[in-house]
Amino acid sequence: MPFICENVECRAVLARGQVRSVQENEGWCFYCPDCKARNELKNVGAPGGAVELIQPERSDLPHKVVATAQPLEDGKYAAQLRVQKALGMKGTYAVEERWEQLGVFPDAHAAVAHAKSIAADLLHPKA
Ligand SMILES: [Zn+2]
Repeated sequence: MPFICENVECRAVLARGQVRSVQENEGWCFYCPDCKARNELKNVGAPGGAVELIQPERSDLPHKVVATAQPLEDGKYAAQLRVQKALGMKGTYAVEERWEQLGVFPDAHAAVAHAKSIAADLLHPKA
């Protein structure tokens, strides 16, 4: 099993030979050679035996969500959203979905907040 960088902007798939695992005070980890993000590792080797490192499973999948405010000619802002849902398999994403204009708002903050709330509903639909 290769390691996968947990930085959602990176998600590099790394063969074990490509990464150098290091033991720090907080435990084992490796630093992504591409983006330098710290990635946690877990030692599942027998106590006193050889070190066997795995990447801990994350229950929450790191979806890519980009909420932006597009300035309009009349001084208002359109809420825009791009979402790529992380699939169950590590490092795999669904096709990106885009919304160019979710609504028009008087300021950029409101537009981004609106786009984010749409994303939250989309990724965590209420039962
Ligand atoms: Zn990385």
